[in-house]
Amino acid sequence: MNTPQALSEALIDRIGEQGPIPVADYMEAANGCYYASHDPFGVQGDFITSPEISQMFGEMIGIWFTDLWTRSRAHNVHYVELGPGRGTLAADALRAIGAQGRHPAGVHFVETSPVLRKLQAERVPHATWHDSIATLPNGVPLIIIANEFFDALPYRQYIKTYGGWRERMVRYGIEGFEPTPGNEPAEDIVPEHLHQAQAGSIYETSPAGLLIARALAARVTRQGGALLAIDYGHENYDAGDTLQALNAHAYADVFSNPGANDLTCHVDFTALGAAGKLGGARIDGPVSQSYFLGTLGIAARATALARRHPERTEEIGAALHRLTSEEEMGTLFRATALVCPRWPKAAGFEVA
Ligand code: SAH
Repeated sequence: MNTPQALSEALIDRIGEQGPIPVADYMEAANGCYYASHDPFGVQGDFITSPEISQMFGEMIGIWFTDLWTRSRAHNVHYVELGPGRGTLAADALRAIGAQGRHPAGVHFVETSPVLRKLQAERVPHATWHDSIATLPNGVPLIIIANEFFDALPYRQYIKTYGGWRERMVRYGIEGFEPTPGNEPAEDIVPEHLHQAQAGSIYETSPAGLLIARALAARVTRQGGALLAIDYGHENYDAGDTLQALNAHAYADVFSNPGANDLTCHVDFTALGAAGKLGGARIDGPVSQSYFLGTLGIAARATALARRHPERTEEIGAALHRLTSEEEMGTLFRATALVCPRWPKAAGFEVA
C-alpha cells in the first residue's frame, strides 16, 4: 500500500466488508503507508525533528550515551535506535561517542520503512536493521534512543456517548472517512474516574507503545542498559483528543487522505513510566527537553561551534533557541529514561 490512493481503496474495501475499524488500525495503516512511501523530514517535507534542526541535538545524545556507558562500568554496549528517520541523530551521536574514544559493539536500527532504511544506510552503513524489537541482541547491554518514535505508533481512542464509553472507530460515509462510536461498551478499558465524563469526551492510549516500552524495560533490566525517549507529550494525562495530522508544516484533517499526512498523538509520559516500571526498570525523569539539553551542556556546545564557524553564528543561535526555548520545543518536548535498576542515574535528569 505504497500510495495514499491505493491505501484509501483498500481501507474502503475493508470497512465495506467488516464494518468500521478502530482509530488505531486506521492510524497504523495510514502511517505505514506514509513512512513507507517518502522522506517526510526537513524544510521540503511535512515536519522537522530535533536532529534535523541541528547536529547539536545528536551530539548531546552522544554525550549522554557515553556518560551513562562509562559510569555503568559495562565493558561493552550496543547502540540501538527506534525509528531513526534519516539516520541524522545516529550519525551525530556516534561521531560524538567516537570522539570520546568509545565504540559501541554494534549499531541496531528498528525501522519498518524501506525508504528511510535506505537513507539511514547512507549515513550509518554498518548498522543492522530490525523489523521489530524482538530480534535485538541479547547478552550485551542496550542503550536505546527513541526520538519522536512513540508519538507515531497506533493510539486507541474511546468516546463517551449517551449510552456509555465506546471505542472510537472510522467508517466510510458520503463525506469520506469519519469517526464514529463502536457498538461494544468500553468501560473496562477507560479509567473508572472517567466513567461519568460528559458525552463527547475522548480518552486515548497506545497499547502498542506501552508494550514496546515494557518489553524494552524488561530487556535493559535483564541485560543492562537504558531506553531514552524524547517526544512531545504530557504528564498526568486525564482525557482529551490529541490525534493530529501534519502536512507541509501545517495541520491537516486526520480523516482525509490517509497515508498522505503524518498522524501522531501526544505521548503520555506517566503511562510510559508506569509501563517501564512494570518491566522492572527505574524511571529517570521526565524533564523538559530544555532542561535535559541544558544540563548536558548544549549552550557551551553552541558557543564552541559558533567560534569554529563564525559565519554560522546566527544559524546556530536560532537552532539553540528552537530546541530549548519555552515557546518552541523546550517545554512541549520531554525526555525520560527507563534504566536498568543496577545502573547509575542517567545524566540530564538531576532534578527529577
Ligand atoms: N527519530 C527520527 C524520526 C522520527 S519519525 C527523527 O527524530 O528525526 C518516526 C520514525 O519511526 C520513522 O523513522 C518511521 O519510519 C519509524 N516508525 C514508525 N512506526 C514504526 C514501527 N512500528 N516500527 C518501527 N519504526 C517505525
